[in-house]
Amino acid sequence: MSTQVRPQIEVPAQLKPADGRFGCGPAKVRPKAVEQLQRQAATFLGTSHRQSRVRAVVGGVRSGLSRLFQLPDGYEVLLGNGGSTCFWDCATFSLIERKSQHLSFGEFSAKFAAAAEAAPHLTEPEVIVSPPGTHPDAIARADVDVYALTHNETSTGVAMPIQRPAGAEGLVVVDGTSAAGGLRVDPGQFDVYYFSPQKCFASDGGLWLAACSPAAVERIEEIRRSGRWTPAFLDLGLALDNSRLEQTYNTPALATLFLLAEQVSWLNENGGLEWAAGRCDESARVLYGWAERTEWTQPYVKRQEDRSHVVATIDLDPGIDAVRVSQMLRLNGIVDTEAYRKLGRNQLRIALFPAIEPADVEALTACIKYVAERLQA
Ligand SMILES: *Cc1c(COP(=O)(O)O)cnc(C)c1O
Repeated sequence: MSTQVRPQIEVPAQLKPADGRFGCGPAKVRPKAVEQLQRQAATFLGTSHRQSRVRAVVGGVRSGLSRLFQLPDGYEVLLGNGGSTCFWDCATFSLIERKSQHLSFGEFSAKFAAAAEAAPHLTEPEVIVSPPGTHPDAIARADVDVYALTHNETSTGVAMPIQRPAGAEGLVVVDGTSAAGGLRVDPGQFDVYYFSPQKCFASDGGLWLAACSPAAVERIEEIRRSGRWTPAFLDLGLALDNSRLEQTYNTPALATLFLLAEQVSWLNENGGLEWAAGRCDESARVLYGWAERTEWTQPYVKRQEDRSHVVATIDLDPGIDAVRVSQMLRLNGIVDTEAYRKLGRNQLRIALFPAIEPADVEALTACIKYVAERLQA
């Protein structure tokens, strides 16, 4: 016997978004991409990643990303298994020569700083911290060879523009995990822009991708020549060799690659990064505008220019329990609006990634209102 849970508050069907997925990763995968995977499954899934069928998809991802980010000549897209979390460890071995500087303003940016702090072959990094809901700025230093920036801090909903610190000579290495494909970025301002496919790229997790400048490629080669001991799995030199052959060092998830390739094509065909960012701007305008107009909500991030257009954090008045709002939405098929747990705020966190329809964000605001007003009653 199936025990179906009936929500205590039933949101009317006409208020609901067409798609109820608002999580920040794994995030909404477009049904059309899944259909395409289904259609091609018999000749793709379960075939060798060393053969042309899969390598063509990897090649399409690499060239499609070069086009999406309008990478200048000499930039290369690298990929490997393990996601952005793994890339932090790769960077401690293959990108940081001696000393890094980290801007730490939330869970994710703090983790890379911790990885660099723990690495015995590196000098103590400089970590510049700012309170949650804000971001610090990088400061050029003569002894820093990697500046570790985060384009969008997914735990707090703060975005920052990517710019080389004035006068800096080190590499600018940017965590673009939740920003890439949704926020504008100038490749002249970074040396490495790395991310995973389960956020704006509407695929599954488990992979990392990194757009690398010629200076970054040179650093990888230099460290390789230096003879520093590096676990093969974390060696960006090996990732470079394999990426140039449209492969990964070890076996990748083929469905992840396929869905990523579909999303990159979809973004490029619709008008590229400018189109995608414009769509996220529209969703952000809808959601933050609603939160400012509504009496019992407000955007968590105080400075308007710091508010992310890919991950929005909305505080609720203490009288309305955000956990219950998210739970009630979930029972109605609207999922993953919960705040980042460790931030510990009475808050909703909502993805505004390009795969999410701005009209669905609008519908979501009506659903939040419907649920919150009835929870108060
Ligand atoms: C999601 C996320 C990560 C972690 O990505 P994984 O693929 O889970 O390793 C790192 N940084 C940021 C900014 C993220 O949003």
